[in-house]
Amino acid sequence: MASDEPDSLKDRIARVRRAIEVAAARAGRTSESVRLVAVTKTVPTERILEAWQLGVRIFGENYVQQALTKIDRLPREAQWHFIGHLQSNKAKLAVELFSMIQCLDRPSLADSLERAARASGTRLDVLIQVNTGAEGSKSGTTPEGAEDLARRAGEWPSIRVKGLMAIPPYFADAEQVRPHFRALRHLAHRIRSLGLPGVEMTELSMGMSSDFEIAIEEGATLVRIGTAVFGDRPVKTVV
Ligand SMILES: *Cc1c(COP(=O)(O)O)cnc(C)c1O
Repeated sequence: MASDEPDSLKDRIARVRRAIEVAAARAGRTSESVRLVAVTKTVPTERILEAWQLGVRIFGENYVQQALTKIDRLPREAQWHFIGHLQSNKAKLAVELFSMIQCLDRPSLADSLERAARASGTRLDVLIQVNTGAEGSKSGTTPEGAEDLARRAGEWPSIRVKGLMAIPPYFADAEQVRPHFRALRHLAHRIRSLGLPGVEMTELSMGMSSDFEIAIEEGATLVRIGTAVFGDRPVKTVV
């Protein structure tokens, strides 16, 4: 792809990076305090490789099986975060492939991840997924359940609870999502103040293509961006 095409991957990434910088500055934050996670679901490996060459370092995948081939083809220095719904029987494979699991949503998954991480001798970073909109169609623990889950996962020696993740409801007016982001930040702050062992609570994964600037204003440290980086996905995928 020629780099001077208006909608080249290079342009898209530059535009997203600039928007991240501007939003961070507006919130009095450094742009280094916000990391881009490029979401690769349905994106061909060639294009992901191109993003890597353009300086993207963290990738997010929803499907363990699809991640296998992609991870295999990217340089080993690439970081992969799992952002989909994780079945316990995929825990072992997920621990081998991903440096962070962003979707810890139930105690039994924490137990499976601990077994898998211990077996492979790694310390696994996880985020607790919170269903801020209490939507039946989305996974994630309740805000009340997040504390219990942090406590349980933090006690496992091979798991480090780095923070919280949320996929709030979609609003045509992105500004309406702000209370969800704010609630997630407050929840993380409250759990961090408990000083639980194994619980750092310094990461907030929130914000997607339509609302990442608002998420950054509300404290996001990881923004998960698919469409704005790679363009429209061919089919609507269920998250
Ligand atoms: C697809 C997906 C994203 C990215 O969504 P875009 O709107 O394309 O930026 C972020 N987070 C999760 C969990 C997703 O499944």
